[in-house]
Amino acid sequence: MAALENLANQVTLALRNSAVHRDLTVLAEVDNLTGLANRAAFNAALSRDLEGVADRETTVLFVDLDDFKYVNDAYGHHAGDELLQVVAARLREVTRPSDLCARIGGDEFAVLLRRTGEAASAEIAQRVVEAVSAPAALEDAVVHVGASVGVASVVGGDDAETLVHRADVAMYSAKAQGKARVQVFEAGLLRGDPTRVAFERDLATAAANGQLVVHYQPVVTLDDGRCAAVEALVRWQHPERGLLAPDEFIGVAERIGAIGSIGAAVLRQAVADVARWRDSLPGPGLSVHVNVSALQLDDDAFTIAVAECLREFDWPADRLVLEFTETVVISSPAAIGRLRGLSASGVQIAIDDFGTGYASLTTLRSLPVQIVKIDKSFISGSTTNVEDRAVTEGISTMVTRMGLRAIAEGVERPEQRDLLMSIGVHEAQGFLYLSPQPAAELLAWLTDHHAATDEPDAYTVIPFIPRRAL
Ligand code: C2E
Ligand code: CA
Ligand code: CA
Repeated sequence: MAALENLANQVTLALRNSAVHRDLTVLAEVDNLTGLANRAAFNAALSRDLEGVADRETTVLFVDLDDFKYVNDAYGHHAGDELLQVVAARLREVTRPSDLCARIGGDEFAVLLRRTGEAASAEIAQRVVEAVSAPAALEDAVVHVGASVGVASVVGGDDAETLVHRADVAMYSAKAQGKARVQVFEAGLLRGDPTRVAFERDLATAAANGQLVVHYQPVVTLDDGRCAAVEALVRWQHPERGLLAPDEFIGVAERIGAIGSIGAAVLRQAVADVARWRDSLPGPGLSVHVNVSALQLDDDAFTIAVAECLREFDWPADRLVLEFTETVVISSPAAIGRLRGLSASGVQIAIDDFGTGYASLTTLRSLPVQIVKIDKSFISGSTTNVEDRAVTEGISTMVTRMGLRAIAEGVERPEQRDLLMSIGVHEAQGFLYLSPQPAAELLAWLTDHHAATDEPDAYTVIPFIPRRAL
């Protein structure tokens, strides 16, 4: 139900917007899911506050949910979204209206406590831990999560970034001590836990040390099983821990500022690989999809890297697809400006994981998007549960009517493919076709699937299901 409501809300939002044309800057300051301030708005407010405050009068709480992933995995992302909304409401309850609560990442929140010193802030932080830890009655389940909170008060002349970093460091320490705790920042914490420090240090140099490996997964045209594009998915060949999946390090890379070098390396490798394959593959040109973190739009480095890369490998701009998750929507007007610049240069823009709660149809109207990737959680439920099916069909219909392309992610079973075809989705990715592969394996697979018009194995013809007339 939550998913349907969410979709309905998105439609309402889009309709309302078509009449009102809400100012983009308003959108850019609010986290769509929770209504709290977003990361950019929080940083801007904190910077303003730090101009001229006396020491220890401004405090930042960094709040990270404990075991949020468990709720998402066990009950699905609808429950996860509901929980984030509950947490947002509780944060507001235990703080004053003059304080600023923000959601600054997936399950990360920050609170700006104005005119509040360290001792009082630690008490508020404790209230936050207690409030968040109370059971939350969601639509389908009652869940318990905790919160780890780091507290950092301004010390002479700190800038916003330093203060948030200190609160983050304190939060990590709180979590390391056993969750559902408060930790006030102290300088000793900067030395940190040696394993984590080593991991972060290695990650910061992973790109420069040539430890990133790019795997590829095909995007297949459902009608003929032909490969239309490949998506680059990074892995880290860690010196001791082996090949690590992106979920184990992309978030850390974003936090420590290593995402810029990693993103640039993946982009270059991906374009270099497809440009090399071009010569051995007859037929129509492949496109290459590269995942981009919203943080990579915080300055001009990425835009410049894209232009250089296209020039160096003589790769047509319109066959590079940049995939952003909806967090771009909660970024600054400057970031949105860069996205528009990329789009104006001919590069295609895709919204990844669409439907997971942070994007709305407004995103599609206000950003230069050509492709929408329907999140795999909907596809996995699409043949077994009516809500996921409704969401899949709803997104597909809206996306197509807006003149955009829909790509379904995570197609694992033939019946999911059949359903997608019957509702008018023409492109998909998933284990049914091929899991992400190293470059050499992918090239071998492409040799059979690129120009070929073979139908996929166990192909079944689905009767055309007419949609209701308008
Ligand atoms: P994503 O962009 O949504 O990528 C799809 C993920 O789904 C991949 O996981 C892929 O292996 C997995 N997948 C593909 N087909 C299926 C299927 O049929 N069933 C299931 N259950 N899963 C499937 P992977 O490679 O672990 O990547 C995870 C996420 O890491 C990506 O999600 C993307 O958000 C991020 N990521 C990967 N490479 C990069 C990168 O270079 N830069 C950035 N910023 N993020 C990246
Ligand atoms: Ca992606
Ligand atoms: Ca995705």
